[in-house]
Amino acid sequence: MSLRDAIRTIPDYPKPGILFRDITTLLADARAFREAVDALVQPFAGMKIDKVAGIEARGFILGGAVAHQLSAGFIPLRKKGKLPHKTRAVEYALEYGVDTIEMHLDALGEGERVVLVDDLIATGGTALAAIDLLGQAGAIIVAAAFVVDLPELGGADRLRAAGVEVSTLVSFEGH
Ligand code: AMP
Repeated sequence: MSLRDAIRTIPDYPKPGILFRDITTLLADARAFREAVDALVQPFAGMKIDKVAGIEARGFILGGAVAHQLSAGFIPLRKKGKLPHKTRAVEYALEYGVDTIEMHLDALGEGERVVLVDDLIATGGTALAAIDLLGQAGAIIVAAAFVVDLPELGGADRLRAAGVEVSTLVSFEGH
């Protein structure tokens, strides 16, 4: 089964008109999970990566596995109020309203080389906020890696325009 076939699509979740690309079916398939993690890691094989930063919540699962493969540390980027120690926060716009992403202040040292990981990039708002957060902490963003790209929403292009290397494994048409 291809990676694309291992991802389930749920129409009208969480709102009418959205095609939700559900990676839980990929994660539950041992071969697909392994193949996805291997493919996410591949561009960084042999490179010095200090930390992998994963975005809550599906970015934790993939990012943890990628960090292990790269012998790197892992940094959780979390929703507001979830991290117990001192944090830095970045707000970003959603379709309706704003959201906040947070990182521990001591998660990262100046000049550390970081790869950002999440399951999916749509508009890129979340990933750009994460990159802002990591940049404020003095990280060198080596790249951002996603399983799924929704190219019509322009997120990957937005990251590239901001000077970030982007890799994605599977593209789906539409939103
Ligand atoms: P964005 O900030 O627009 O790039 O949205 C990315 C975040 O929202 C990721 O953490 C995704 O998990 C989630 N997301 C956005 N759109 C979808 C979708 N169609 N299917 C599954 N997850 C999505």
